[in-house]
Amino acid sequence: MTDVDFTTSVGQQVRTVSGRTPHAATSLEYWAAMSNTIVSMLADNWERSEETYNARRMQHYFSAEFLMGRALLNNLNNLGLVDEATAALEAYDQNLTDVLEAENDAALGNGGLGRLAACFLDSCATLNLPVRGYGILYRYGLFKQFFENGYQGEKPDAWMEEGYPFVIRREEEQKLVRYNDLTVRAIPYDMPITGYGTKNVNTLRLWKSEPMEDFDYNAFNSQRFTDAIVERERVNDICRVLYPNDTTFEGKILRVRQQYFFCSASLQAIVENELTERGGVENFDAFNSIQLNDTHPVLAIPELMRILLDDHGMNWEDAWAIVSQTFAYTNHTVLAEALETWEISIFERLFPRILEIIREIDRRFRAELAEANFHPGKIDYMAPIDGNRVRMAWIACYAAYSINGVAALHTEIIKKDTLHDWYDIWPEKFNNKTNGVTPRRWLNQCNPRLSALLTRELGSDAWVRNLDELSKLGERSDDSALLDELNEIKHQNKIDFAAWIKDRQGIDIDPEAIFDVQIKRLHEYKRQLMNTLYILDLYFRIKENPDQHFAPRVFIFGAKAAPGYIRAKAIIKLINEIGHLVNNDPIASKVIKVVFVENYNVSPAEHIIPAADVSEQISTAGKEASGTSNMKFMMNGALTLGTMDGANVEIVDSVGPENAYIFGALEEDLPELRKNYDPRSVVENTPGLKRVLDALTDGTLNDDGSGAFHDLLGSLLEPNGWEPADIYYVLGDFADYRKTRDQMASDYFADRRQWAKQCWRNIVESGRFSSDRTINDYATEVWKIDPIAI
Ligand SMILES: *Cc1c(COP(=O)(O)O)cnc(C)c1O
Repeated sequence: MTDVDFTTSVGQQVRTVSGRTPHAATSLEYWAAMSNTIVSMLADNWERSEETYNARRMQHYFSAEFLMGRALLNNLNNLGLVDEATAALEAYDQNLTDVLEAENDAALGNGGLGRLAACFLDSCATLNLPVRGYGILYRYGLFKQFFENGYQGEKPDAWMEEGYPFVIRREEEQKLVRYNDLTVRAIPYDMPITGYGTKNVNTLRLWKSEPMEDFDYNAFNSQRFTDAIVERERVNDICRVLYPNDTTFEGKILRVRQQYFFCSASLQAIVENELTERGGVENFDAFNSIQLNDTHPVLAIPELMRILLDDHGMNWEDAWAIVSQTFAYTNHTVLAEALETWEISIFERLFPRILEIIREIDRRFRAELAEANFHPGKIDYMAPIDGNRVRMAWIACYAAYSINGVAALHTEIIKKDTLHDWYDIWPEKFNNKTNGVTPRRWLNQCNPRLSALLTRELGSDAWVRNLDELSKLGERSDDSALLDELNEIKHQNKIDFAAWIKDRQGIDIDPEAIFDVQIKRLHEYKRQLMNTLYILDLYFRIKENPDQHFAPRVFIFGAKAAPGYIRAKAIIKLINEIGHLVNNDPIASKVIKVVFVENYNVSPAEHIIPAADVSEQISTAGKEASGTSNMKFMMNGALTLGTMDGANVEIVDSVGPENAYIFGALEEDLPELRKNYDPRSVVENTPGLKRVLDALTDGTLNDDGSGAFHDLLGSLLEPNGWEPADIYYVLGDFADYRKTRDQMASDYFADRRQWAKQCWRNIVESGRFSSDRTINDYATEVWKIDPIAI
């Protein structure tokens, strides 16, 4: 398409979507017009990719979450149309930035797990791999966060209410999903997933539930208005909301209904293709593999058994032989409370046949282990059914041909603790796939200045498709001019961020200060609380010695708390109160500022990360499975301040310990350290710590008499009925954290070139953390699929 064609097409589209002349249209209408243009340009290659993939072995990625973020810029970049788009919009007196900012984030995920799924889709398309994603078209994405008097408030995120051109309804491919008490239609909405530098277009298929008949006219005509509406609402409920809970689960029946809904519909579509292409299901596992992103889609295992047994008349042994060669399971957490189990009564009510199949899996599992002379206690512990509960993770471990963790340390922990018994019996199932992030969104798109430098230095943009290319620039780390340029790029990005946050939240920050960032879901194990204790301590140090020089810093947070997670919400309030205290203090605010970015999401992350100097990755060792924001920061030249946890371990391995700031207790030492751990004596022996903890409850900080800060203090100092004090070792690691963080700040200002050199190492070593590397490993070692360019 030429510039003129593109401009003409956008003009036509904007008339169609707005019903008025281009000069009267809004940014949002231009966004829709451009997006429509993109979809029309993709259509032919998309269809061709689908046909090509359907005919061969495919991988299917099942995930309850896809945290996609915005789509337009990603597609423009992939299609090489950014300049054309800019020119087209100029012709109508519009600018691209405003149009891009009009797009709502598709926030169909909570955090890392959902964003991983999105990065994976991007890599699969870029690598020409026959992979399709399957999930749910939630009407409301993750809630929108707002602050009211420092507390988190939540409101619904109606992300596609004004239309969303990047999903196409495929009415003719609908399926029926049957529950004991309800039958619903599942309508697929397909999203095109473009890759960088390829014509292939992959698909994310999101299912929406609809009533069998849109309206029950009998009920309506006989004046039973509410009956007609109640039935419809019950069906709409299935796709209404993404559960905003990162770890534990509520709204049980609905949650299980959701899970079954997308598993059943997706499997029906896959089986149907199998019949079309191969004429039968006997070779299902030769042509299909399904990756389960955590346990949310584990119901696909009994559901595939049901389809093979009941719809295709297979016997149990043949069906199980297929099923046990079809599924691969990714474990995402070592937190025990996050391993899903459901009451049997829920299954009885929703799908007795599925329960029957799970009981048979359970029976055969017990028989198999008894045959092999396992201790009855061990069999009980590992069996899929535990009294009146179904254990989703155990079904996955038994049925899957592959079980993987998401970072080297995490995989070792699941082998030795979480899934130890399974590893004992089936060690060959276990493998590690360290997470990665897509360099398209997380470097090329969000950091155009740095990207231009890398392309210039390498002589091509090949690094966007192959991030290992960056390692060729390793030898340039003594080039002073280059390091100065890198510092200048970071400085410009910080100026951009300062303008963005000023516009968004009205706060002034100094781009000369160190931008020290912690952005991630709010969770106790991630230890935002430890970060705040440091800031409070620094505040007191500044107040005590107003004439001493302190390194100027801006402490930046972004985090949503699950609405029912009281303690996480207390920490949000605490961060905001510390911000209030510090930012309004005439002395302290000259040196430090606290910024809490409201409604943290993918798009804000794209503004924050390129401007960051310091990447806070401070979870209690052993608790963060991988982390992926650590990788995004690294790619953008921020230095990690972190514990030896998750993928931090591998980042340090790649860049060398001299190019990261590592502190804190090690995972293997924590059990011993905890044995005689006395938080109160830590407080006594750590100068400054008492003053900080006192500030939580002595009136320095205001929780409006709610007792929230008192509870936080209690969590650090008082054991309760079920857990010891300070289970996340916040106080235990505090002194080392303070020392390391102080050192980091003074290093930053001591030698700016030396700092830039450390940043450069991080950038050039980030190839290992591209999701292309991760996906290549899955494709060759687990999925056994080959690239096919259309
Ligand atoms: C990358 C990302 C995450 C994951 O962050 P971690 O620090 O690895 O937990 C969460 N939310 C958003 C919006 C992200 O982009």
